[in-house]
Amino acid sequence: MIEHDILVVGGGLAGLAAALNSDPKLNVAVVSKVHPLRSHSVAAQGGINAALGNNPEGKDDSWERHALDTIKGSDYLADQKVAELMCQKAIPAIYELEYFGVPFSRFPGGVIAQRPFGGAGFPRTCYAADRTGLVILHTLFEQSVRKQVKFYNEWLVTKLVVREGKCAGVVIYDLTTGQIMPVRARAVIFATGGYGRVYLKTTNAYINHGSGIGIAYQAGVPLKDMEFVQFHPTSLYDKNILITEGARGEGGYLVNNKSKRFMEDYAPSTMELAPRDIVARAIQTEIDKGNGFENEYVQLDLRHLGEAKIKKRLPGIREICINFAGLDPIESPIPIQPAQHYSMGGIDVNLKCASIIQGFFAAGECACVSIHGANRLGGNSLLDTVVFGKIAGEEASIYVRGSGDTGLEEKILLDEALELKKRIEGWEKKDSALKIHLLLNRLKEVMSDNVGLFREKKNLEEALDKIHELKEQYHRVHLSGQCLRFSQELVNILEFESMLDLAEVIALGALNREETRGSHYRLDFKERNDKEWLKHTIVTQKDGQPLISYQEVDASKYKPKAREY
Ligand SMILES: Cc1cc2nc3c(=O)[nH]c(=O)nc-3n(C[C@H](O)[C@H](O)[C@H](O)COP(=O)(O)OP(=O)(O)OC[C@H]3O[C@@H](n4cnc5c(N)ncnc54)[C@H](O)[C@@H]3O)c2cc1C
Repeated sequence: MIEHDILVVGGGLAGLAAALNSDPKLNVAVVSKVHPLRSHSVAAQGGINAALGNNPEGKDDSWERHALDTIKGSDYLADQKVAELMCQKAIPAIYELEYFGVPFSRFPGGVIAQRPFGGAGFPRTCYAADRTGLVILHTLFEQSVRKQVKFYNEWLVTKLVVREGKCAGVVIYDLTTGQIMPVRARAVIFATGGYGRVYLKTTNAYINHGSGIGIAYQAGVPLKDMEFVQFHPTSLYDKNILITEGARGEGGYLVNNKSKRFMEDYAPSTMELAPRDIVARAIQTEIDKGNGFENEYVQLDLRHLGEAKIKKRLPGIREICINFAGLDPIESPIPIQPAQHYSMGGIDVNLKCASIIQGFFAAGECACVSIHGANRLGGNSLLDTVVFGKIAGEEASIYVRGSGDTGLEEKILLDEALELKKRIEGWEKKDSALKIHLLLNRLKEVMSDNVGLFREKKNLEEALDKIHELKEQYHRVHLSGQCLRFSQELVNILEFESMLDLAEVIALGALNREETRGSHYRLDFKERNDKEWLKHTIVTQKDGQPLISYQEVDASKYKPKAREY
């Protein structure tokens, strides 16, 4: 049986940061359902935040100010000490990335360049043109190869094995051979990313099914603040490929069909650089009022930035527009609409990235350490992955060094794998015409129609009813493929169970939270209500059912205020 001291699940930025910062004396490996360089981190465009103060307009910036912006951006749902920790660690984290070889864009004179981003008091977003995620991921991957990190690519984790409150390993489906088997590990770190594909319109990669979050939930780990789903204001109309916030950071305008920069009606002092929840709702409101184009989109105009700036700072955006919309932003405005983008909630972990299960850790987008609260600021997620990925690697190493062997008999792990093999045989034998892709599409429609930018009681209840119907239908799904090697159908069937659970937790959290906060906007409860709702939502699975409870928010330093921009 394959055995490791620490098994990292996920080869994106959080997973690589965790592997690189685990104790090199321990036996560490990374499992990923795709090659690590195909993880969604590679698609990050606009940048990563740290209060370096390199931009002349940001010379008075500080990590404290970064923390305050993060907390205000979160609509005061972030735990304040956690936000402070991240912002403090941001500065050395950027210099470490630079030392590893990340080719950041530079200002004349050679210092790392920084651009303005939404909700930030100073320009503090470091970037590499509009390909920041790509260069950081490639650099960390190079470092992993240099340090001879062991990788298992195209392995899908399907289950977390837990006995007596202790994590003992995972069960995997090896796509390359079709084999199902257990992997024993003394500690497991999940860095499995977001769940964007639970929605129809999303900027996320096709692989972002969020199964890691679902697997943790099914193993008894609570999920936190899952109703807070970020919708990015600017995705390319129809294709929903991201058009980075950096485009507005560089000075892009949002314009409606009356040629008006409509953000002056919604956020007069920050205009296009208000936080994402506010800009996304403003765009949708304009479209709904009939001020959009074809009732579907508004325009992002970059023409006034000029050819040189667009080519230098936004070359990837220009390429996307030419290849996917047949237009050049140097000459034409870009049609854009909001789309699902990021998960603020996730696996409930503490400051050490540790969960309630001994030896089980989580970091990156799949985790909720509680920094982004009800709305994440642009540039803070890449930062979250490198800061908390590192902490997860260090803390898992401390745990492993202090703990004995898992002591679990091999047979128990083998039985877990056997159980999955039986389930797969069951799906093969099902005498039904029900195909997984039909259920997948249905779920996405349900979530987009009912649990989107604007929410209300009856839609949320309808979503829950439909999710429960889909849960029934899932039991009857038929697996048609004879061959289990590279079976996308099997991957979808395996991950769909998690997607249903996540959809249920998101909709349930949203239904219960009778207020508006950050990304969670209730048409029937339009005000923030700190007295009753300044608290984290915690959902735990008990006997297959979601059990909801609430937890205090650390608002010890900054008292919640009205959020004005
Ligand atoms: C288009 C786009 C642009 C963005 N731009 C920015 C930006 O400019 N700045 C910013 O701060 N943030 C940005 N974000 C957000 C940010 O990129 C992500 O939140 C972050 O990169 C997530 O990193 P991660 O390591 O947590 O997960 P990911 O990079 O998504 O990696 C997840 C990994 O988990 C693996 N995995 C998942 N499930 C399983 C399983 N069951 N078994 C095995 N392996 C599994 C996958 O193979 C993958 O390797 C952007 C996001 C998108 C979608």
